[in-house]
Amino acid sequence: MNTNTSEAVYLDRINRARTEMKRAGVDALILSVGHDLPYLTGYLAMPLERLTLLVVPQIGKASLIIPRLEAPRVHELPTVFSLVPWNETDDPVRLAHELLGNARTIAVGDQMWSRFLVDLLQHRPDNKYVRSVEVMEALRSRKDAAEIAALKAAGAAADRVAAQLHAGEIPMVGRTEAEVSADISARLIAEGHQKVNFAIVAAGENAASPHHHAGDRVIKHGEIVLCDFGGTMNGYCSDITRCVHIGEPPADIAAAYAVLMEAQAAGVAAGVLGSSCENVDAVTRAIIDAAGYGEYFVHRTGHGIGMEEHEDPYMVTGNSTPIAAGYAYSVEPGIYVPGKWGMRLEDIVVATENGPVAVNNANHALVVLDR
Ligand code: ZN
Ligand code: ZN
Ligand code: ZN
Repeated sequence: MNTNTSEAVYLDRINRARTEMKRAGVDALILSVGHDLPYLTGYLAMPLERLTLLVVPQIGKASLIIPRLEAPRVHELPTVFSLVPWNETDDPVRLAHELLGNARTIAVGDQMWSRFLVDLLQHRPDNKYVRSVEVMEALRSRKDAAEIAALKAAGAAADRVAAQLHAGEIPMVGRTEAEVSADISARLIAEGHQKVNFAIVAAGENAASPHHHAGDRVIKHGEIVLCDFGGTMNGYCSDITRCVHIGEPPADIAAAYAVLMEAQAAGVAAGVLGSSCENVDAVTRAIIDAAGYGEYFVHRTGHGIGMEEHEDPYMVTGNSTPIAAGYAYSVEPGIYVPGKWGMRLEDIVVATENGPVAVNNANHALVVLDR
């Protein structure tokens, strides 16, 4: 995981978690598999049948209960947590129970296996259990300086792949969607990602399905090709969508794309502090509706991004949460005409005191390719 991040950053995060615990009336926080654990410790646990569990009391030292054979993979941070390795014949749930002491309200990570939680409930039937999001959401959605730097680096790497796409370095005509997807994936790795999370390539009518799985359909001249790709680089995710047209686009596609570009730019600009998440959605939707394509915009405008591709906050009607400094999220309106064509335009944006900053700056136009 994000081994470049210094111990001071993790110490700051765990201290902020304690402040949130106090506010929420939580005596102890327990985190197993999932991304809250690496956020606080730098260590991403494999989803094993053996228990890994960080126990953070509101007051006092945090402990990472870990199978002894996994312990060598942990980079210890003495000021942040200490390691409590357990042997094959130990009962790690009993260890957790002991570390929890007389905690009454316990916040539990969403991805802790139920087998361990069920055992813990037997040890501690009288505790109150709440979800860790009550503590972690405020932290995870407001990215700190180290996280914003990582998101910008991942975004710049994705932009370089988009620039190669626009320069015609990724041949389209005569190749299958799957071949182009593999090409884009290799370029994400070459540009510095450790992992590719997805590379959607959807040609012509397939582009009308927002999460189309790149298949054996061969790309032809005269088609729009939607490319939505992203990966993980030093623990943080990229996510960008650009469309290209093979040959000059027909009038209907060109007209719809102009609306899409306007809507997306307005959605990015709407990311000002104190405005709401749902307002970002309302702004893009109003422009697409007014142009008569409203029924073809079938999903929310965006999702938060960080260690996970999709995380809080969501840019969707009903989410009245005010936009705060450090929110990182996608702005990705789309227009999908079933059986004909589809298009989406996506950037990652970080909300700052000085207004929204786009992490992606690749050309937003519908670039025309000739091959
Ligand atoms: Zn998506
Ligand atoms: Zn995307
Ligand atoms: Zn996205």
